[in-house]
Parts: sequence; C-alpha cells; structure tokens
Amino acid sequence: MAVRKVLHYGEPSLREVSKEVHKVSKKISDLVRDLLDTMYAQNGVGLAAPQIGENVRVFVIDVATGNEPLNPMVFINPKIIKKSGAVKSNEGCLSFPEAYTDVKRYKNVMVKAINEHGKPFVMEAKDGTLLARAIQHEYDHLDGILFIDHCMNRFEAESVLKKYNLPPLDPELLVEEKELEEELSKND
Ligand code: ZN
Repeated sequence: MAVRKVLHYGEPSLREVSKEVHKVSKKISDLVRDLLDTMYAQNGVGLAAPQIGENVRVFVIDVATGNEPLNPMVFINPKIIKKSGAVKSNEGCLSFPEAYTDVKRYKNVMVKAINEHGKPFVMEAKDGTLLARAIQHEYDHLDGILFIDHCMNRFEAESVLKKYNLPPLDPELLVEEKELEEELSKND
C-alpha cells in the first residue's frame, strides 16, 4: 500500500460532503490501508478519506501513544448517535500543518459504524478523551467541516492561520454551538 499526499486547507475536496460506502470492496480495503499508512507516516492520531482526495465516508484513528502497541480503528459510514457534555480541546489537523487552536467539542460521544471487514459496531468514548475528540474531528471531515469551524476564539484562530500562511476563516462556515458555549462558560 502507499503513503499518500495529504491535502492542505484550501483544497476544495476538504469542503465537500463525502459519499456513503455501499460495499467494503477491495478498493475500500486499499483506501483503508493507505489511510493508515499515511496517518502513521505523518504521526497523526486520525485521518479521513477526503484528506487524501477521496470523498467517501471513511476515517481511521489510532490514539496509542509512546510504547503502546498500534491500535488502528477503522470507521466506515459512521454516525454519531449520542453526544453530551462539553469540553475545550486544543486541536490540530494534518491538513493544517503546524496550526493549533482551541475548539469546542462534546465530552461524550457514541458512534455507530462498520469496520474494514464490513462488520457493524458501536463505540462509546467518554470524558473528553483523545478518542472522543478525534471521532468528532474525523467525522466532521466527511461533511466538509474543519476543526477551525469550531474555534473558541475567532481572533486567535485567524492569527494562527495567518501565521502559517493558511487561508482565512470562512465566517459563514463557523458552526453554531450555543449549547456547547453555555456548558463551557459554566466550567470556567
Ligand atoms: Zn483533520
């Protein structure tokens, strides 16, 4: 399989809504291998198919750190079926080299998906863990939503983008998150 080129912010396919997978064909298995190879090559925690220019609903995550054995997780046609709580999360993205900013995320999520063998599964990630945040981050990529659309502070996000010569925020695309904002302001 192959390490593929990761598209950077500004490429149109990062803003597209990706298509459902109808069958876990050889083409999809190859895509999953490429996603994993590319994610590991870039030391990423997650990677979604649109980031390598394939607009299909597939992403991979591995939250293992240090000496922990690799633990690749594959999500095909994922759906977030439950979400609650709120957490502030400092995030980056392989499509935004070097840019990090604080974003709003749900603390707990439950996701339903199928794996690389075509088997359905349900996974719960709680307490704002890296896994809980990564699931939301990667899931968004399938709908053309990027982490900066959830930024806590527009000015900070703008300055980070500018610093790394990335295109500015699109205010039209910022996600309305009244509930999360209220919850987060309570925690402060
Ligand atoms: Zn990303």
